[in-house]
Amino acid sequence: MGTQQTIQSIRGMNDWDVSTSDRLHHIEQQAQSIFAQAGYQKIRLPVLEKTELFARAVGNHTDVVEKEMYSFSDRNDQSLSLRPEGTAGLVRAIIENGWWQQGQLLRYQYTGPMFRRERPQKGRYRQFAQFGAEVFGASNPIIDSEIIHLSYQWLEALGLKNHIQLHINTIGESADRQQYRQALIDYLNPRYDELDEDSQRRLHTNPLRILDSKIEHTQQLLQQAPQLQDFINEKSQTHFTQVLQHLDTLNIDYHLNPQLVRGLDYYNDTVFEWMSDKTGSQNTLCGGGRYDSLMAELGGKNCSAVGFAAGLERMDAFYQKFIQQTLEHHDSIYVICQASSLSSAALFVATQARKILPSIRVVCDVQLGSLKSQFKRADKSGAKIALILAQEEYAKHILILKTLRDTATQKNLLLTDMDTVLPTYFNSA
Ligand code: AMP
Repeated sequence: MGTQQTIQSIRGMNDWDVSTSDRLHHIEQQAQSIFAQAGYQKIRLPVLEKTELFARAVGNHTDVVEKEMYSFSDRNDQSLSLRPEGTAGLVRAIIENGWWQQGQLLRYQYTGPMFRRERPQKGRYRQFAQFGAEVFGASNPIIDSEIIHLSYQWLEALGLKNHIQLHINTIGESADRQQYRQALIDYLNPRYDELDEDSQRRLHTNPLRILDSKIEHTQQLLQQAPQLQDFINEKSQTHFTQVLQHLDTLNIDYHLNPQLVRGLDYYNDTVFEWMSDKTGSQNTLCGGGRYDSLMAELGGKNCSAVGFAAGLERMDAFYQKFIQQTLEHHDSIYVICQASSLSSAALFVATQARKILPSIRVVCDVQLGSLKSQFKRADKSGAKIALILAQEEYAKHILILKTLRDTATQKNLLLTDMDTVLPTYFNSA
């Protein structure tokens, strides 16, 4: 053993093992293909941005910016931050690169790491991956519904749709919230001493966040408080009604949740979250909404926008809880050879098999040793069939094909017949 001390990872930043990584990949792939099919193009953006971007976009008085950002001074004393979310950077990129022009509609999707210095617990990490989708240039309520519908299809594809519920609300325009904010402050000020500490702090910085406080007494105080709904302008009301009508048509159930305001400042009108009431405190899988003024606030054009983001690890926690199935790799081939002199021939055979079946995993045994130990490894790998290179047969261009699942069968296979025979073992290939 070495004498050096080992180095530990940073709290809240995880090394995911192979099976977790497999599930995360599966979850991510489902989203990527569902959204790609609906025209959402993939985009890659930096993880590091100027701190000012998040302060302006997400809001100085939000928890995310105030307490959770990884910010540091660069060598030239510029304050930089690891991105806590993806929307601000995307809007910055669109403005900077001139990607959006009046009259255009842009649909984007992205996946990547986000960073928030939160108290780590299951489903809440300091580095986590988000899948997000955003549409620019559409004020039509059908786009709100499209994003919700696609996120629903994703949850459905993962088998989660019966375990989650859509919470939805409208928070109107900024002017509505300004008026409501004052009414809420006027109502809560005389009750200041009864508020929990977090809510006291938020009263004059971000009072709307008090609405989704988890503290019971604060919730009791709020029961008689003015309601945001009474301050929403008519245009926003109509927009919201239309979003709900589309959801009805699409057969998506929703729960109207007047407490839902979301934690980031840039939202207006529709806000939504997919939640579960069956899991503990980290019960939100994904969230999103409209942010029609963000582009202009960051110095760009006026551009309507709507989007959503989901934490992949949070999705995985749900997936593990509700879908107990493990992702197995029965759809694979294991290549075995009888003697090390056949090793390079085995690589050739594996390459041929991969070309014939591009979506099937083909693994070569490189540890070699006895046939018995190679078969053991083949079995453990979960492969559906083994291709064996035996000296005598291979000299005649013949492989031995052995099925490893169900009932084991064995037969000879001419190298030249691989392209017709192998696909018959894999229906979906
Ligand atoms: P937000 O941007 O806060 O609305 O978060 C959107 C989604 O990202 C949440 O619904 C979670 O799925 C995920 N998420 C946010 N913060 C964390 C975190 N600290 N750890 C894991 N997932 C997170």
